[in-house]
Formats: sequence, structure tokens, C-alpha cells
Amino acid sequence: MRDGNPVRRALRRMQRMALERRARAFDADALRRPAMVFAPHPDDETLGCGGTILQKRRVGAAVRIVCLTDGAGSHPDLLTHDELKAVRAREVRGAAKVLGVEERDVFLLGFPDRELDACLEAAVARVAELLWRHRPEQLFVPYARGEHRDHVSTNHIVREAVARVGLPVTLFEYAVWAWRHWPMVGFGWTWRPALAGAVSARVGLRMARQFRTKVLIRDVLAQKRAALARHASQMERRDAQPRWHTLEDVDGGQFLACFFEDYELYRRIDIAAS
Ligand SMILES: [Zn+2]
Repeated sequence: MRDGNPVRRALRRMQRMALERRARAFDADALRRPAMVFAPHPDDETLGCGGTILQKRRVGAAVRIVCLTDGAGSHPDLLTHDELKAVRAREVRGAAKVLGVEERDVFLLGFPDRELDACLEAAVARVAELLWRHRPEQLFVPYARGEHRDHVSTNHIVREAVARVGLPVTLFEYAVWAWRHWPMVGFGWTWRPALAGAVSARVGLRMARQFRTKVLIRDVLAQKRAALARHASQMERRDAQPRWHTLEDVDGGQFLACFFEDYELYRRIDIAAS
């Protein structure tokens, strides 16, 4: 169920439009640069950057997708670890295909879901090897604040690998769970203690200051939706199982709506060669 309060809805719309207005758009040259998209879990690549991947592939840019974890922790008591791992690997390959990325350009590193921080050294080595081999100029990584712990770990892993390889790159940080902070979603949709609300608002306001790069995705929204639909384990309740949570359940659909606006927004960080 969506937030039916028209005042809150109008405020959210104004906030989003202000964010988009202040941000600088990718130019044609930036769109053509080779990129590597780092997803902590299968589906993050589509949620965070699906529209950008589509736009880049349209102009022939090389895009590779690297999934750090196997995603087997999403519904642990409903499917076995091996079943979930196989399902999510199949889904991310299917989504990548819809986004225009071939199977040979999808790398599934298979680290354990929710335990990426226990594998930092091995993950940095794998990522450094991929950076060295493919020489992407743009890296899309999760934002490190207000995010799931695997997302924070992915940010650290990629930054460490970049430092190790020493090649110049531009990082584009994308948000997934951090979109749940005010002002990106309404303040009143769920009860929160005042302190937690204030902390949340600090994350949200920081994001609003830092996310100053945008890619127009309005004309590829249908394909982005089609790609996300390939992540069926995250989008559909399996066997009408009430305990099977979907992304649509999060904040009554407000969360999912954040990814289907006219623009994808990023925090840009240029890293010089070392
Ligand atoms: Zn994730």
C-alpha cells in the first residue's frame, strides 16, 4: 500500500525534484566510458544503476557486473542455501541480459551473503584482479552510509582494490537502503523513536548534499522494470507464502518507487592514479 497522504506525497516529490535539479547530468563522453558495476547482492545492480547500464549499453559502452555475495541469505528459512544460491545466480544473469550485459561480463564472486566483512582480504584480491584485467574507467559502488553491512563492505573492498591497483578511476556511489531515510521517503510512514529519526534524517540530508550526479533514465524505465522482474525471488511471493518478503513490501512500496524516478543519482568521487 502506498502512502496516501497527499501532503507528504507532495513534499517527497518536491524533495526529489530539488535533488534532481541540483545534480549535474552525465554527458555523452561520460556515458561512453567503460564501467564496472559492483553489486553486493544480485538485484542491487538493477535497483541502483539499471537505467544507467541500459543507457551506457545503448551507446556501446563496455559494462561489466560484479556480484560480491551469493545472495543466499534473503529467505534463509524458506529455501535451502544451495537452492537460493542457484536461483539468485540465474536471476542476476537474466537481469543482466535485459540490461544488455552478456553472460561473460557477469562475474559472480560467491562470497557468503551477510558475511562479506569476514572475507575482506580475499574479496579485495578478486576485485583488484578484475580491475587490472578489464581497466574500467568508472566504478559503480554502493554508498557507505545508512546501508546494509554487505553494501558498506563492498564500498570498502572496491576502494581498497583501487588503491592497490593504482589506476585512475571515477567512483559513482549509488544508494539502495539509504533511500529509506528522510527526506527521500516520507517521515511519517512508520513510527520511529525521535533519536533514530534524527539519525536517519542526518544520513538523508548528507546524501542530499553529496548526490550531485544524475543519469536520465526516463526512456528506459520499462526495461529497468523488466530487468528487476527477472529477480523474481525478490519481487514475487513464492507459492503465496506469506513469510516470503518482497521488495514491494518495504515501506509500503515507497522504497521501490525511489528507483523508478526520471534520474538515477550518484555521489561522484574522482580517484587519481597512485
Ligand atoms: Zn543488497
